[in-house]
Amino acid sequence: MTTEQLLQWDRDHLWHPYTSTIDPLKVYPVKSAKGCTITLEDGTQLIDGMSSWWAALHGYNVPELNQAITDQLQQMSHVMFGGFTHRSAVELSQLLIEKVLPKGMDQIFYADSGSVAVEVALKMAIQYQQSLGEHKRRHFVGIRSAYHGDTWHAMSVCDPITSMHSYFAGTLPVQYFVPQPKSRFGGTWDESDLAPMKELLEEHGEEMAAIIVEPIVQGAGGMYFYHPGYLNQLRALADQYHCLLIFDEIATGFGRTGELLATYYTNIQPDIITIGKSLTGGYMTLSATCTTKQIADTICGGEAGCFMHGPTFMGNPLACAVAKRSVELLLSKEWQKRVKEIEGQLKEGLAPLALPSVKEVRVLGAIGVVEMREPVDMGTLIPKFVQEGIWVRPFGRLVYLMPPFLAITDEELQHLIQGLRNVLHG
Ligand code: PMP
Repeated sequence: MTTEQLLQWDRDHLWHPYTSTIDPLKVYPVKSAKGCTITLEDGTQLIDGMSSWWAALHGYNVPELNQAITDQLQQMSHVMFGGFTHRSAVELSQLLIEKVLPKGMDQIFYADSGSVAVEVALKMAIQYQQSLGEHKRRHFVGIRSAYHGDTWHAMSVCDPITSMHSYFAGTLPVQYFVPQPKSRFGGTWDESDLAPMKELLEEHGEEMAAIIVEPIVQGAGGMYFYHPGYLNQLRALADQYHCLLIFDEIATGFGRTGELLATYYTNIQPDIITIGKSLTGGYMTLSATCTTKQIADTICGGEAGCFMHGPTFMGNPLACAVAKRSVELLLSKEWQKRVKEIEGQLKEGLAPLALPSVKEVRVLGAIGVVEMREPVDMGTLIPKFVQEGIWVRPFGRLVYLMPPFLAITDEELQHLIQGLRNVLHG
């Protein structure tokens, strides 16, 4: 098959994320990827500015991760988790509980993707409330501009205006939303940010199973960084109104923001944490929904007698093996220092982008965001980035860099920043 034939077949038969089959965006055929370099079929090399959507924190084709998968393959690639267990799943959970998750969060449910981990978290909250006899608690409250995934209930807790609600109107479960906190990360905390949530809970608290938020960084819904004070106060409100507090750390987990989990910017603990994406260093799809023994046991003490979920590929040994190695590798490095350095370089490099078309430049950890005043045209911008030898995929009004922070060199990051500046300067 020639590259042209491959592209034609793809064009004729394959769906890509959020892409039309009538008028699809151009796709680029990737031949290989190593470190921070993605090589296309024609030999074009692109420096990766996306980490394959928050996931590839070590870059691509990492010898240690390749080895972990190869070793696991010699044992088995998959075996059902119903009635069986294996070292791969057990050892990963030990590492997560001992070194990654907050103290006391020691019950782990493995799932396949971020969206499913969110579904699992929401189901846990419902079953938990039912076990307590709280049958009226069937709703969730989230923050405007949130993004929690593309499956049904996950979609229902995404921003009702900017996400997909309108296309599924009348069919999605109806949830509650409050405005985004205005207090920015690194700014001062304004107590009045909490007023809408307080009012909502005063009125509807008895219907609420849980509050769900992306802590510190709202990702796909706006790349917005907010104050930890908001999360600290949410804990008190959740307790007061007897609902659970869910932190969706699928994007923020594993060091990207400068803390291992965004939770560690706060002085509280949520009841449920979801992780995914960079859990496997971006090698395979795996996610986890983590909670406490008290919540797990309350769920299982209810009418059903167990938690009602069990994916076919739960605890996939290959995914767990590579996840374990990825987390070990992360923890063995001076990752926090490196994220700080990248943050400094992004701040310095993106600051000159104070153009009339740019609304704001903001940086947190290894995330650099240029928010434009108007939505960008992906179809024209992406080819220009490719011409610059960089892989950047903007959406809406957001052009952002999120490179593999444990693989990228200062020079590669400079190339990314300069390429982005060249394109935005037009
Ligand atoms: N939650 C958050 C915060 C996310 O950023 C994402 C993915 N962008 C998801 C959930 C859904 O994850 P997945 O795409 O793996 O289903």
